[in-house]
Amino acid sequence: MDIYRVKPGTRIKLDDWDPNDKQAFPLSKKEGKKKLLQLNETLEVLQEKLYAEGKHKLLIVLQGRDAGGKDGTIRHVFEGVNPQGVQVASFKVPSKLELAHDYLWRVHQRVPASGNIVIFNRSHYEDVLVVRVHNLVPEAVWSKRYEHINAFEKMLADEGTTILKFYLHIDRDEQKKRLQARLDDPAKNWKFNPADLSERARWDEYTAAYEDMLSKTSTDWAPWYIVPANRKWYRNLVVATAIIGALENLNIQLPKVDFDPNSIVIE
Ligand code: ADP
Repeated sequence: MDIYRVKPGTRIKLDDWDPNDKQAFPLSKKEGKKKLLQLNETLEVLQEKLYAEGKHKLLIVLQGRDAGGKDGTIRHVFEGVNPQGVQVASFKVPSKLELAHDYLWRVHQRVPASGNIVIFNRSHYEDVLVVRVHNLVPEAVWSKRYEHINAFEKMLADEGTTILKFYLHIDRDEQKKRLQARLDDPAKNWKFNPADLSERARWDEYTAAYEDMLSKTSTDWAPWYIVPANRKWYRNLVVATAIIGALENLNIQLPKVDFDPNSIVIE
């Protein structure tokens, strides 16, 4: 998935990244969905080993615009994995208690423990996205956060956490289609938030914020992937493949037992 990984220090212009790209898996939708089922099985096995070994930690960060597909990615990529050992942490508007602390306080509490995978549905990056676009703190405050975040993630990596970050890249037309679908389908109405429209109106400001985030915080220890996400099946394949690759690199070993299973007879 190297083609989608942001090399540290690259200045990102999102216009240069095609949200419809499908060069890594030139498949039909049907074939793509079939391939995901195989990847689901591979991920299930690797996650069980990670849990059994109880040594490594995996942190997955998902960011994207409204209707970018964060929820769908979690549902489809992790289908079949054992819920024991995998947690989702969703970061919403901070509570009063959270706001009374530094912005990484609530985040640090949710990072994975040994043997676990944690998926961040939104993350500390909101503190350089929505916070920046809405001027919730002055520029002098948010502009220092890229450096804090890189240092924070370096600390997590040095202490045994593998970090993968995915920006789900959709275009304006795709967002319109997905928001409209939430209005058209009564079963999806609950997902529609009128505030999404005022966020959509700030499309360009968010683009600038995402571009800075991707340019300044993709590091060797916590890389960003820009995932072409107009096609949901393709997005799922890219995210699943990157996660599987990272887990395979860990060379996870099942715990050794100190008995000979063949010598044990259970009456
Ligand atoms: P989601 O869109 O993630 O499914 P919600 O509709 O509840 O869930 O939206 C969560 C909202 O919380 C988003 O608008 C997001 O920008 C906002 N949010 C998250 N973190 C922060 C933060 N640190 N400061 C302000 N708003 C935040």
